[in-house]
Amino acid sequence: MSLKYKRVLLKLSGEALAGSKGFGVDPIIIKQISDEICRVHAKGVEIGIVIGGGNIVRGVSASEQGIDRTAADQMGMLATVMNCIAMQDALEKNTGVQTRVMSALKMDKVCEPFIKRRATRHLEKGRIVLFAAGTGNPYFTTDSAATLRAIEIGADVIMKATKVDGIYDADPMKDPNAVKFKKIAYTEAINKELKVMDTSALALCRENQMPILVFKMGDGNLERVIEGDVLGTLVN
Ligand code: UDP
Repeated sequence: MSLKYKRVLLKLSGEALAGSKGFGVDPIIIKQISDEICRVHAKGVEIGIVIGGGNIVRGVSASEQGIDRTAADQMGMLATVMNCIAMQDALEKNTGVQTRVMSALKMDKVCEPFIKRRATRHLEKGRIVLFAAGTGNPYFTTDSAATLRAIEIGADVIMKATKVDGIYDADPMKDPNAVKFKKIAYTEAINKELKVMDTSALALCRENQMPILVFKMGDGNLERVIEGDVLGTLVN
């Protein structure tokens, strides 16, 4: 079986782990997602993962409630660390799977600091690497972190898992006539404000020619994409 991508950066939103509760981590959901990741890993794909923190704290929302923005963003970054630890635990319940959490903020009792060379070495050794704490800076998002890490580790693609199965010209939940793009250029995605990713992450992808595949996680879609099925929307 030939693989379309050898090294990928998978971006999951924090909300993806929350399931129907909309908050926190749902153990059933996280098991489903981790099993799907492990099936792809077993095929020999090198996987880096960035998980958001929106299921626990989102900086902008917390600051709207009166918390200083930098403090709120620090809380958001710590939320991503919790999600990574939960995902690490779920992944390692699969026999033989080794993982490392690497954080942009130093917390050496919990995980390793992010060091590019070390991250690459982990991937080469077949370990799944979870990149925690975003970029380590306030006023950024985990989309920017995913882009940064994807470029640093030389990923073939950012696989952005979303609730919808690609990028549409309107919100498909609200507009039944919304049309899905199979492919879209970075500049068009930015100009049309399609909310694929925040603009700074998209611009960084464009500058570094990092493709983004937006797809819906579940139903074996991750495996299908890796094996070359054309799903979702490719931004390049
Ligand atoms: N965050 C940050 N710097 C980063 C990445 C994340 O300050 O480099 C904070 C920010 O407050 C953000 C929160 O962490 O709202 C959670 O990340 P994000 O909103 O990207 O999570 P997602 O929407 O993907 O669940």
